[in-house]
Amino acid sequence: MDACTGCGLKIEGGAVACQELFDEFRVREAADLAPSYAATRLTVDIYCLQHPERYCVSAKSLAAHLTGLAWALEHGGSDKGLRALQRWLNGRVDITKPPIPQPRGDMTIGDIHTVPDRESYLAAVDRWARSTWTAYSSLHPIAEQWIDQALGQA
Ligand SMILES: [Zn+2]
Repeated sequence: MDACTGCGLKIEGGAVACQELFDEFRVREAADLAPSYAATRLTVDIYCLQHPERYCVSAKSLAAHLTGLAWALEHGGSDKGLRALQRWLNGRVDITKPPIPQPRGDMTIGDIHTVPDRESYLAAVDRWARSTWTAYSSLHPIAEQWIDQALGQA
């Protein structure tokens, strides 16, 4: 059995098949599962952090997804804060990309894509978010620094 090089999901076809699973899930998420835009944004941040070779190539893209996840889990996820982060990332940002941890959490899109309804979706994404955030614990301090910079500028 192949494994995804990003998240480690065991799936025939590896990273390509993992991405297809995610793309399929995103359609169902937007149509049926997610109660809000913020929820679908969180799944993107999680998936990108689990596949940093593709989605977190620059320091800025890593900062976008890492602060997005941190904001949702550690800071209550307000829209106002998300907008401040977005403004910060749209400007000139002088940051250095830290080493990215491996492995990236014990849950993957493989555990999420079969959720039957909105309630189990919300619970599953929350577990997925927390497991990914824990896997990134070496980067918690820098995530907080970046959030401070973004909010300090706002
Ligand atoms: Zn994957």
